Amino acid sequence: MRPIIGITSDYNGGDRPEFGGKIPTCFLRDRYVHAIEATGGIPMILPPLEAPSKSARPILERIDGLLLTGSGPDIDPKAYGERQRFRFKVIDPKRFSLERELIRHALKRAMPILGICGGMQTLNVAAGGTLYQDIRKQMPKAMQHQRGGKPAHLISVKRGTLLSKVLKQDQLQVNSAHHQGVKQVAPGYVVNAEAPDGVIEGIEAIDYPFVLGVQWHPEFLNADDQSTTLFKAFLKIAARYRHQMKC
Ligand code: MN
Repeated sequence: MRPIIGITSDYNGGDRPEFGGKIPTCFLRDRYVHAIEATGGIPMILPPLEAPSKSARPILERIDGLLLTGSGPDIDPKAYGERQRFRFKVIDPKRFSLERELIRHALKRAMPILGICGGMQTLNVAAGGTLYQDIRKQMPKAMQHQRGGKPAHLISVKRGTLLSKVLKQDQLQVNSAHHQGVKQVAPGYVVNAEAPDGVIEGIEAIDYPFVLGVQWHPEFLNADDQSTTLFKAFLKIAARYRHQMKC
């Protein structure tokens, strides 16, 4: 059975002309949907909701894994106890509150979670971690991390981590399309990958079968094996999770 993967999506309440103009619109880059379908899963888009506390658990009962996606806007720094220090758009509260609720309940049932880019940052903040609000301003020696979907920089994968077991590589070239990054890693999580400038490129929860975030964008499925390998590993654990829950 192919596992069903819930994919979080974005919301324009009418203030993002590039996505539906002034009409409230739910939306998601197709590459996330495509990556799940192409690597053997069934994608199911989860729209931001008015009352996530009522819906998060019923949603989780119907999916086998959770994919937290990236976004143009950033997490409101209030979520990690900071004021906003630089100019950037923040994620609609409808989206963030659903994601936080889904993460909380998904962790309780040890459901596999993959967080990509902003989705990894959401995973970290939801568990009590913090972010660099702007890498260039707060880490002046960092390299350029806003380089779109093409391979952009090297990362080192920490041996002994889940990511290392999945990718079986110590170093790899990844794409990079982010201006924020993980600062303090949340309790219960460890860093599994870093760029040469020290920017955190991956985190994972300890003591879970698969709760993992990457700062890069494997969903582009660039002409490399590691993106497909990562999705296939996620889907394999999701299929196993499904089987265990049904038994
Ligand atoms: Mn990067």
